[in-house]
Amino acid sequence: MVKTAYYDKFECIGSKCPNSCCIGWRIDLDVETFAKYISHKDKNLGKGISKNENPTFDKFAVIHRTKKNGRCVFLDSENLCQVQKNYSKELLSPVCSNFPRTEINFGSKKLKSLSLSCPEVSRLVFSDIDNLKIVNDDNEEYKNENIKLIPNEFRNDQYAVNSEKVFNLLYQIFNNKNISLKVCLSITNIIIKELKNNHLNINQTKEVFNYIKLFFLKHNFEICENNDQQIVFVKNVLKNFKKKKMQNKLSDFVNEIYQLSFIEMNSKDLIFKFSKNRNLIVEKFESVYDNLFKKYFIHEIFSRISFLTNRDLDAKEHFNLIFFVALITKLLLIFSSIHKRSMSTNDFINIMSLITRYYWNKKILDNEEKLLFQQENQEDFVSLFYLFF
Ligand code: SF4
Repeated sequence: MVKTAYYDKFECIGSKCPNSCCIGWRIDLDVETFAKYISHKDKNLGKGISKNENPTFDKFAVIHRTKKNGRCVFLDSENLCQVQKNYSKELLSPVCSNFPRTEINFGSKKLKSLSLSCPEVSRLVFSDIDNLKIVNDDNEEYKNENIKLIPNEFRNDQYAVNSEKVFNLLYQIFNNKNISLKVCLSITNIIIKELKNNHLNINQTKEVFNYIKLFFLKHNFEICENNDQQIVFVKNVLKNFKKKKMQNKLSDFVNEIYQLSFIEMNSKDLIFKFSKNRNLIVEKFESVYDNLFKKYFIHEIFSRISFLTNRDLDAKEHFNLIFFVALITKLLLIFSSIHKRSMSTNDFINIMSLITRYYWNKKILDNEEKLLFQQENQEDFVSLFYLFF
């Protein structure tokens, strides 16, 4: 087994959770759990669920939610799950019992991590100033040795083994405090492209990677202020969220930021304050946020590693989604700082967990989301990059 070092430290904080996964989110039931609830002696279990219109094995039914606040109907007044409390954990659906755990099953090798969409996971990951650590079964950290992700039975898949090499090289740069986020992202973008286009000869991957790394280490990133574009992007992102008609902590946050920024402020003030706070963030970025985002990126690359190792998946599209979440988080952090007049790691943790909650089940961005940042004749990565920095 290969897992993130903090994996075993996680414990659900239940009623103390600031954004419970049982409030405001759709919870699907698989066919087996549906059958158990329908035939259970406690008729309330059967009454609390409905079969989906187009049922699949994993999403066969859905748990009802209250009209007010969208609470799971099995949640009690202390935000504790009555199914687990009155019966047993075994009666929970895989979605409920596994969340926020993520597991990638590579035959004899299991890769385990946790989703940042749980605020307690985000707190564990980002309140620790150390790099992201990956450990083995015995909780021993992989330091300079290669992290073996692909088990022996699949090592004849050259693409997967090459991706494992790429991951190890990425793990080293994202965990290197002397390499900036800009450099890490630029290298990731190019190496993923090379991998996807089958341009990486397995025997030369390390040399190619180091060549790209050297290029970007010497590169002068000229970033011009693009406040107007960033503000328009955020406005459209918020409008897009509003259209979803959600009823949860994310929609509360979205409505508040939209109201304060685009209804109650005039555009001149907004641009002025955004620019001022953006520059403050950029300064703080050098020391704090740069590392938080580096940790976020390598955490997500590890937790969704099959997008790199499985040649049938579009690695670029998956990487774009990971980048898109970081971009929204950063810009909303700036917006939030305008109204709160402060900015802390806790704000980062809260916003990151809200945004990742929305995207945690998604593999790639939908067309509507792509339109929010795509620029004519510009590669998606470049558009995301210039909106981010
Ligand atoms: S979001 Fe995380 S901490 Fe909160 S209730 Fe769900 S599993 Fe527990």
